[in-house]
Amino acid sequence: MFTVPKLRRFVLIFLIILGGSCGRPANDGRSPLRPIVTTKSPPATYQLADEACNGASPKTARVWGAQIWTWEDSQIKTSTARFNTLTSEASLVSDAISATSWRDVFERRCDIKNPTGPCINDDGSEKGWVLKSSGGGLRICEDDAKFPRRSYETVALTSHYVLEKAYQTYLSATNTTIGKIKLSILPHFIDYYANFYQAGQNKTLKTYVTGNLAYFPVGQMIAVFPEKAGSTSSTGSLWESEFVLAHEYSHHIDFARHGKTLAAAGLIWDPTLHGFRDLDATDQTKSKRARIRGAYAEAFADLLAYYTEGSNKSIRGVPEIQRTRDVTSDTFANGEAKKLTSTSLLELTDGLPSQEQSVNFSDIHIAGSVMAHAAYRVFETVLSANSSSPETDNLGYKMTLALGDALANSREDYTLSPLKVALEKAVEKGLGKGQDEIPLSLKQNLCKIVEDLIPAIPDLPFAESMSCERQA
Ligand SMILES: [Zn+2]
Repeated sequence: MFTVPKLRRFVLIFLIILGGSCGRPANDGRSPLRPIVTTKSPPATYQLADEACNGASPKTARVWGAQIWTWEDSQIKTSTARFNTLTSEASLVSDAISATSWRDVFERRCDIKNPTGPCINDDGSEKGWVLKSSGGGLRICEDDAKFPRRSYETVALTSHYVLEKAYQTYLSATNTTIGKIKLSILPHFIDYYANFYQAGQNKTLKTYVTGNLAYFPVGQMIAVFPEKAGSTSSTGSLWESEFVLAHEYSHHIDFARHGKTLAAAGLIWDPTLHGFRDLDATDQTKSKRARIRGAYAEAFADLLAYYTEGSNKSIRGVPEIQRTRDVTSDTFANGEAKKLTSTSLLELTDGLPSQEQSVNFSDIHIAGSVMAHAAYRVFETVLSANSSSPETDNLGYKMTLALGDALANSREDYTLSPLKVALEKAVEKGLGKGQDEIPLSLKQNLCKIVEDLIPAIPDLPFAESMSCERQA
């Protein structure tokens, strides 16, 4: 149907295996944005709008602008994106992205009869996805183009626009660069399950990953998955949310800043689990610290995405996710108040949803969203108290980085105790003051926010005891 460019070399360079872990089937994993749901429905079909450009020999040309679609509250609006570093070479590249490919096909072969788990190798590790084919490098031959909304080009240009902005936000906040990543536009991730019995017949079940985005630290790649075929995306797609793309890039920032520290402690971000793998745990489903760390990672990515965008406009209207992942919202999408009680914390650490609660805290994104909202409330209180300070340039972003650094450097893994020190460090960054210099009334206000939203925290921040009141 589509012309496949003669770019074998590109495909070879891109030959990578994503994933690889032990202990759990991949379809029990969690995505960076929301739980991975594999589906028997194949992905929707998209158009390669400029086949001539992608079939011809690559030419180097800057791309200065293009029409993109983005969420703005509950509507999708068109706008002209301006790029600072985007260039079409063998594929689209920028200061943030080293290569852009279209319709990569990744596969893995699993067996439902395997006693240790359908996708587990003989050595106990989990099978990764292997790149089988690719459309090749995605190129743009036309500046200020208006490609169709459901084309590889528009999905790529929208993604590039946000990822370049996320990179530049990081650069201006830290004065440090960060490694480039690859961008896989609308890939097919296919699992084949042998020994699938249906209606008395032994068949092979084929499933796909759709309607999501994911960051793969092993391949240093962000994948923008296609929608499910037949899905009515009359409203919009996830990649049209700046928050969503910035969230994935924030996982890259987290990995670049903290990956080594956490790996030294035995915690590896695992794309097949979509959470942390605990090298010290024999059963990944029982690692409490991996789950708590996973929630910290999601909180960090949600907060950094919010401060990258500078508003919550691109997440408010996204179905299912909206208020739950909007760090400014004090309720989940179902209207329940965001709060992390000891019961909810137990759900998170045990990985088991309780019958009593409608919000599923065993999902690391849910527990993370409460932490992100609490941190947001603390940061905003500090920012309003600090309005006279000259150093207010994206201070919320810088406080989030300080929070993430302190969480990664904490050695306490089995309670929420690291949040105390991390919030205190972030506030010190925001105020440019040590704890001793912060006014008691402000400390008390900050303490009460955390006491109210995270009652499961064992040590209250900005307090000398288990009460926000008794500070003298
Ligand atoms: Zn995430």
